[in-house]
Amino acid sequence: MAKNKPGRSGFTSYPWCRLSQTLLFLNVLAVAATATATADDSNFPSSPIWSPHPSKKLTKPVVLLISSDGFRFGYQFKTETPNIDLLISRGTEAQTGLIPVFPTMTFPNHNSIATGLYPAYHGIIMNKFTDPITGELFNRNLDPKWWLGEPLWVTAVNQGLKAATYFWPGADVHKGSWTCPKGFCKAPYNVSVPLEERVDTILSYLDLPETEIPDFMALYLDQPDIQGHEYGPDDPRVTEAVAKVDKMIGRVINGLKKRKVFSDVHVVLLGDHGMVTNCDKKVIYIDDLADWIKIPADWIQAYSPVLAMNPRWGKDVKNPGEKNAEVVAKMNEALSSGKVENGEFLQVYLKEKLPERLHYSESSRIPPIIGMVGEGLIVRQNRTDAHECYGDHGYDNMFFSMRSIFIGHGPRFRRGKKVPSFENVQIYNVVADILGLRPAPNNGSSLFTRSLLLPFGETAQVE
Ligand SMILES: [Zn+2]
Repeated sequence: MAKNKPGRSGFTSYPWCRLSQTLLFLNVLAVAATATATADDSNFPSSPIWSPHPSKKLTKPVVLLISSDGFRFGYQFKTETPNIDLLISRGTEAQTGLIPVFPTMTFPNHNSIATGLYPAYHGIIMNKFTDPITGELFNRNLDPKWWLGEPLWVTAVNQGLKAATYFWPGADVHKGSWTCPKGFCKAPYNVSVPLEERVDTILSYLDLPETEIPDFMALYLDQPDIQGHEYGPDDPRVTEAVAKVDKMIGRVINGLKKRKVFSDVHVVLLGDHGMVTNCDKKVIYIDDLADWIKIPADWIQAYSPVLAMNPRWGKDVKNPGEKNAEVVAKMNEALSSGKVENGEFLQVYLKEKLPERLHYSESSRIPPIIGMVGEGLIVRQNRTDAHECYGDHGYDNMFFSMRSIFIGHGPRFRRGKKVPSFENVQIYNVVADILGLRPAPNNGSSLFTRSLLLPFGETAQVE
């Protein structure tokens, strides 16, 4: 089948493109909000009385959250995906994909899915970063001081439920009443553990007596991200990885069916972000800006897909904020001069001036200067840095190529329902609602759950 066409690339018309996207996004939110009451309830039993189907085995709600890393929206059209298709046809799907948070990287996004917070609020602002104030390096550390907010497994355990996680990024951080218990928290991440083993371990929890079955389970699959990075999203090996993920979903479905709980368990299948190739060899070299401003390499914490800069000013500089603003102005003057190769594909901001839709300023961990890099573009210091061709993500979450998938299947999800794209910070409330948990404060909307879920006490018709 035809592949999904990537979103508009390049920054040539960036501000306009961005404005229209913002309006579109606001529109989508408005539709999502108003759709809540008018959704096609006619397809579902109207009785508010809890009516478990005859084969109902579990008497409590159970959620299995599955993340397929780097599953770009549209990958499901690359090859036959009968198992994902089954979940879609019997469940609720974000029709044009799930919108990741910015930056569209693995750790920030998995933690946004788990906490309902934007990275500025849950603290994991990039996969790897240096705290501009303390100078400490975060590189997937497990020290709980980095991890702000309350992930679903903590909310569940705090309120007397049981939780299990398998390689979910950040789930091995000991926080509050969550101690990453042996047997119910598989960590640390080990790429060589076959996906089959991960799926089978999660399924085996359903063989426990019902009171012991984890109410919330989170499973992480590292494919097709690995192949997407190595070969780029259009490579046949990515298609193979997509087929493999679909097979794993089939394994989940069969395992649930074998245990007669397929209609009872809420399966949420999603991804953290998309993938784009950077093989067009469009590179922006920071040293090309030297006629306007010299940027030393030690100011730069990350080049791309997000340019993160923390200028080091001497003690004699009284107002570093003013100096940073000068740096931004000079860099943008250079980039828009037409004299810097690919300069039009990079726009630099003081973090406070970033577009609000990115929610990327309210944290002291975010460096003071952020550059938004065009889709698939690379930033390097100079031409001596080697440029290899690969797939990447982390870019503006406005780009369609950064989107992933969302499918919810189970008693509370509307059947055969398509919903507009939404941001993954909404997932926390959805899972909390299914499990009957009081959600911790988060950036999702409590009203949003109504656009995905049937009211409590009503269940979708099951076979
Ligand atoms: Zn990745």
